[in-house]
Amino acid sequence: AEEFKGVAVVVAGLGVSGVPAATVLHGLGARVTVVNGTAGDKQRAEAAELEALGVTVRLGDGDTLPEGTELVVTTPGWKPVSPLFLAAEEAGVPVWGDVELAWRLRKPGAAPWLAVTGTNGKTTTTRILAAILAAAGLRTAAVGNIGVSLLDVVLGEQEYDVLAVELSSYQLHWAPSIRPHSAAVLNLAPDHLDWHGSMAAYAADKGRIYHGNTVACVYNAADPETERLVREADVEEGCRAIAFTLDAPRPSQFGVVDGLLVDRAFVEDRANNAQELAETGDVTPPAPHNIANALAAAALARAFGVAPAAVREGLRAFTPDAHRIAEVATVGGVTYVDDSKATNTHAAEASLASYPSIVWLAGGLAKGAEFDELAARAAGRLRAAVLFGADRALIREALARHAPQVPVTELDRTDTGAMSAAVAMAQDLAQPGDTVLLAPACASMDMFTNYNQRGDMFADAVRALADASAGPA
Ligand code: ADP
Repeated sequence: AEEFKGVAVVVAGLGVSGVPAATVLHGLGARVTVVNGTAGDKQRAEAAELEALGVTVRLGDGDTLPEGTELVVTTPGWKPVSPLFLAAEEAGVPVWGDVELAWRLRKPGAAPWLAVTGTNGKTTTTRILAAILAAAGLRTAAVGNIGVSLLDVVLGEQEYDVLAVELSSYQLHWAPSIRPHSAAVLNLAPDHLDWHGSMAAYAADKGRIYHGNTVACVYNAADPETERLVREADVEEGCRAIAFTLDAPRPSQFGVVDGLLVDRAFVEDRANNAQELAETGDVTPPAPHNIANALAAAALARAFGVAPAAVREGLRAFTPDAHRIAEVATVGGVTYVDDSKATNTHAAEASLASYPSIVWLAGGLAKGAEFDELAARAAGRLRAAVLFGADRALIREALARHAPQVPVTELDRTDTGAMSAAVAMAQDLAQPGDTVLLAPACASMDMFTNYNQRGDMFADAVRALADASAGPA
């Protein structure tokens, strides 16, 4: 940390990531300038707070690299093509994200990282991993893109044996020297392409999670793109490529046999060529994509030396975060499920594959996505669809092309009562045994503050149905 004394650092961006980074760097004795293109009330307040500490803040110009800059530290929102970074590249000035900074600031002997990335399932897998590590008696935390700043953890007083680290593609893009003990890429589907510029660039950034001496490079046997990233990673001898699969595992794989999660990669007992870890029923929810998440987490934990019993115990202890395939209630034989976190088509596909007969609530902001593949795959499982939000016509058209037999109802209101109207429509369409599934495949910001609010409004509407059907107490 000594090496930051007197160094001229530019922090790109204020906010939840920029303010702490600037504060930390200032505390280390760096000469910090924060630049931010916009200059609203919020930015002015944050600037005042930093200026009181002695940090320089330049509002209104986020493009020009100040003379003499030696290092740029960026927040995740800034695109790689921002003029500031192009100027830095030209001047030979390195650009780091918060994760790179945290890696460099680790104390000697600090806890190793077990890292997770992928298009979907990152948070869930990271939390399952932390639950397994905790069950093994290790001092651990789920950190990173999950809402717990790595910088805080790395600089804090609390000591850890190992960290379960969720990394986004943005963070990986600007983290050239991190060296996790082991790492997993869960899956790769188009997302955030506006930031990365192309699918190839997005994939390449995810691939940065593997490096020269990763102990286990964990990938998804069902996703050839993830396998390609391991193959193309610059890994040395001794690193192991370990796949997870929902089928029976081959050697060096984690998989499923007769309802059991099985490890065929880290088997101590030579007489046995497979190690049972847990039952699929130990995973919550036991949906296929989530079994895959559990296997990936188990692979990372086993690579770190965790015993099979702790894997089972950790899986049993794990409870999913809100709005991720959460069962809200069963009313009149119909189960209502909140997967508001399904904000892209790849995520929605996973939850649609989890139920046989569905009334699907979907819509919102499409972020440039196409819905044809999703509509085609879900067609056989849909009783009906209720569509809402700005880009609902895109989903309607895809359903008309690939699932013309599915009745579609559209809701063209965006007021606060819209979600309960959608739930009422779904109730009319559903039959006993069906699942009413909120898996919007879209971002929420056209109608809601965020996916949390969207899910909460759904759950509130469902609970009102349940109360009404229970009748007066
Ligand atoms: P992330 O942190 O990557 O956004 P989450 O664990 O929060 O992932 O899950 C986001 C959504 O993605 C979930 O609501 C679920 O619909 C879906 N999902 C979770 N795991 C997977 C997976 N392995 N493959 C595909 N979709 C998944």
